[in-house]
Amino acid sequence: MDSAGTRELLSFYADAGVDDAVWDDAADRFEETRIEAEKRNERWAQAQTARNGGSQRPSPAPRAAPAPATAAVPDDAQAARAREIARAAATLEALREQLNAFDGCNLKTTAKNTVFADGNPKAEIMLVGEAPGRDEDIQGLPFVGRSGQLLDRMLAAIGLDRTSAYISNVIPWRPPGNRDPSPLETEICRPFIERHIELVAPRVLVTLGNPSTKLLLNTQTGIMRMRGNWGVHKTPSGLEIPTMPTLHPAYLLRNPAHKKLTWRDFLAIRTRLNDSAS
Ligand code: URA
Repeated sequence: MDSAGTRELLSFYADAGVDDAVWDDAADRFEETRIEAEKRNERWAQAQTARNGGSQRPSPAPRAAPAPATAAVPDDAQAARAREIARAAATLEALREQLNAFDGCNLKTTAKNTVFADGNPKAEIMLVGEAPGRDEDIQGLPFVGRSGQLLDRMLAAIGLDRTSAYISNVIPWRPPGNRDPSPLETEICRPFIERHIELVAPRVLVTLGNPSTKLLLNTQTGIMRMRGNWGVHKTPSGLEIPTMPTLHPAYLLRNPAHKKLTWRDFLAIRTRLNDSAS
């Protein structure tokens, strides 16, 4: 393709809201499948042991272990269950406990940790990204890898840090190989982040990147068009929270020339926080 063609294609992608061309880590689907099969075999062996009255007698592993009855399968029923559980959580601690105990999303089976939040839940500002990456999965905290370090610098530029800001993600479990969460997985996780925002009730919400912006501002418009314009996030109980969509730090690491756009968005956020303080 010649350079004019490449430019046209890229501008088409930008219009369509595509802002993630590559992931930080390469996906190893063979490894994912192997780990899944290993886990299935383990569960099968445990079920066999329980059936044998808890005896430790080794049972021969099956060639192809049947999926256990408790396997989490993303379906509409799980999304309905998530809505019920999230609605019933009266405090952030209760919500964290419920999320830790929730087994209705397949993403949890491959994640090391449930990544709930970091920062100060009493802060005036809450930022919501997409999903944990490798470092976040290992540490159990959002935005602690390279994009998190950039986010910290962006916050510092407007006088904030993790004692004066609160940070979470739409998806609390790392998708294997950093793949995109499926629409159904997102739908299952949605009630938790919505309730999370409602319980924190920040003065200002910031959506980082496309998926979080689309979900929390209920829009199909891409982040390049949305960013820099205040919107309103409506919580399930009707609270209306001023929301600034901006570019995701991972995108900025790949496209540093766009940092100036985010700088403008962050200045608008600072002004809003100053106004609401007075
Ligand atoms: N990207 C996200 O969207 N969230 C994280 O926590 C880390 C990277």
